[in-house]
Amino acid sequence: MTTEVVAWKPIQLPVAGGGSFPVRHIWCAGRNYAEHAREMGATNAPREPVFFSKPAAAMSISSQIAYPPGTALLHHEVELVVFMQSGGRRLSRAQARKSIFGYAVGVDLTRRDVQTIAKQAGHPWEMSKGFDQSAPVGQVVSAAGWQPQGDTMIRLEIDGEVRQSAQLGDMLFDPPELIARLSQTVTVNAGDVIFTGTPAGVGPLLPGEQVRAMIEGLPALNFVVEGRP
Ligand code: MN
Repeated sequence: MTTEVVAWKPIQLPVAGGGSFPVRHIWCAGRNYAEHAREMGATNAPREPVFFSKPAAAMSISSQIAYPPGTALLHHEVELVVFMQSGGRRLSRAQARKSIFGYAVGVDLTRRDVQTIAKQAGHPWEMSKGFDQSAPVGQVVSAAGWQPQGDTMIRLEIDGEVRQSAQLGDMLFDPPELIARLSQTVTVNAGDVIFTGTPAGVGPLLPGEQVRAMIEGLPALNFVVEGRP
């Protein structure tokens, strides 16, 4: 008698200009903008980035995101997302920069009520961060075609109203710095995706609302939240 694993393939994201990017793992940085860290209750600017994971299967390119179960407070966090073409351990900033394949705009969807309870109880964050479709992303653009600048605008609108707006230069740790620091602890690999943290202005998303996430120079990400809390 033989056993068999059901055929499985990594999620492939479309890349602008052709090709695709297979997703291996999603890393996320927390508290990477001082003003957002403050709105979440931090009193001092973080000295080290905080990292957590989402499952690769949480990545979504759908224009419809199902309101997740077990929450009454779904929050949006617009973020610059970095895609890795190579990796390693203990990367320098220069090595980290060379290991970047490309960029997209994404939203780190969060069940904030579940996260708050987990924080208070000293429990892991996973179930507040890693639910189905919790990592919607726009089209990936290769690093040859786009590079973040200090004054590049990042913004999130709900039904045409601006909720989050900042410059990428407001990040406490830029992408090469985040990757270099992450690689001190774990091996970073080709296929890894890194959400680089969100600026201030996070808030609730309701069923029926249309989300538009934008980073100047990258294809916008548009989705509608469906279902009910
Ligand atoms: Mn986030």
